[in-house]
Amino acid sequence: MEITFLGTGVAIPQMGRVQSGVLVRLEEKPMLIDCGSGVLNRFPEAGLSHTEVDTVLLSHLHLDHVADLVPLIKANWLRGKTDMRVYGPEGTDDWFSTVLGAYEYIQDEVDVDVVELSPGKEFTPEGFDCEITCVAAIHSVPTLAYRVTAEDGEFVYSGDTEPCREIMDLAAESDLLIHECSFPPGINVTNHTTPTTLAEMLDEYNPEVGSICLTHFYPDMRGHEREAIYRLKGYLEGEVILAEDLMKLEL
Ligand SMILES: [Zn+2]
Ligand SMILES: [Zn+2]
Repeated sequence: MEITFLGTGVAIPQMGRVQSGVLVRLEEKPMLIDCGSGVLNRFPEAGLSHTEVDTVLLSHLHLDHVADLVPLIKANWLRGKTDMRVYGPEGTDDWFSTVLGAYEYIQDEVDVDVVELSPGKEFTPEGFDCEITCVAAIHSVPTLAYRVTAEDGEFVYSGDTEPCREIMDLAAESDLLIHECSFPPGINVTNHTTPTTLAEMLDEYNPEVGSICLTHFYPDMRGHEREAIYRLKGYLEGEVILAEDLMKLEL
């Protein structure tokens, strides 16, 4: 399994980080998780073809996680690929039909199947050899964290969230926990994570994950990277990785 970070930033623009997007290649076929602004343009930069993507998981509907989804569907259509399956939390169907409804010339040309998921749902997307489970994250809108289990490994993607027990349980004994880390240590924040609050949760619930990869950095995180690693490394057998755009991890 190969995981490519297409975007590791947030809603505020910053050098070197576009908004959220992670491409997971399973058995040669890729699945995209989140598709914020800037993610589409990262495909050629990562040496990937956007037309290979026909399955997208959305953690939630904030713009920094969905802004490039319709542009991706349009780009695929322009290259002759019109089918797409989009999984997301409650509200995804309404949101998608409203946004696509503004572009009548695309609407009738594409075949997009939207699947809304409830927390606790387990499923296997069509054409994939993996199992996916989701739980509710703690954020200002309905948000799902996903666990992807395939033959060669398993990982959890937290979406935007405060660190919480549900995600620690979801991540138990997985190879990799990709967790948001919006702000630096010591900041008091709701709906998001700091290394301090994540460390507290790892300490309390000890999910025994292999490694942690932090992503979804506000510009405020710049300069606090080593401190973030220092705060977290004692809770893991493996590494604390700081995601960068175009970084690849193998499981
Ligand atoms: Zn976000
Ligand atoms: Zn959000």
